[in-house]
Amino acid sequence: MATEKIQRNTPQRKVILEELEKLSTHPTASELYAIVRRRLPRISLGTVYRNLELLVRNRTIKKIEIGGSETRFDAECMHHNHVRCVECGCLDDLMDIPAGSETEKLIHSNGYEIIGCRTEFIGICPDCRKTRSGKHSRVKQ
Ligand SMILES: [Zn+2]
Ligand SMILES: [Zn+2]
Repeated sequence: MATEKIQRNTPQRKVILEELEKLSTHPTASELYAIVRRRLPRISLGTVYRNLELLVRNRTIKKIEIGGSETRFDAECMHHNHVRCVECGCLDDLMDIPAGSETEKLIHSNGYEIIGCRTEFIGICPDCRKTRSGKHSRVKQ
């Protein structure tokens, strides 16, 4: 009858959190599982999932669920926006953009209580732009 409280600081959860904090790529559970497994070879994907869910519930990390794409996890809990590359699907942080403040005000004035924001910008990441311009210059002349 182990309760969540008793399990709070399992070594596994510590490793999962440590590895997530090192990444700025917003990994999916399976991506994180592949990384955590290097340190904990016996851990299962189910355990990684369960611990991620718990960390989300404790508000230690954030879950990013947007439009049909696989759930990703973010150790950065400060409110920030994301930009997704339409070419390779990578997800990056946009820290400098005020977190939808105007939109939130607008929605609030319609009687809603705002509990979060799932704005997602889409674009082409620097790496893909390089690849693209490479293609273009080859196509030229
Ligand atoms: Zn890209
Ligand atoms: Zn983020």
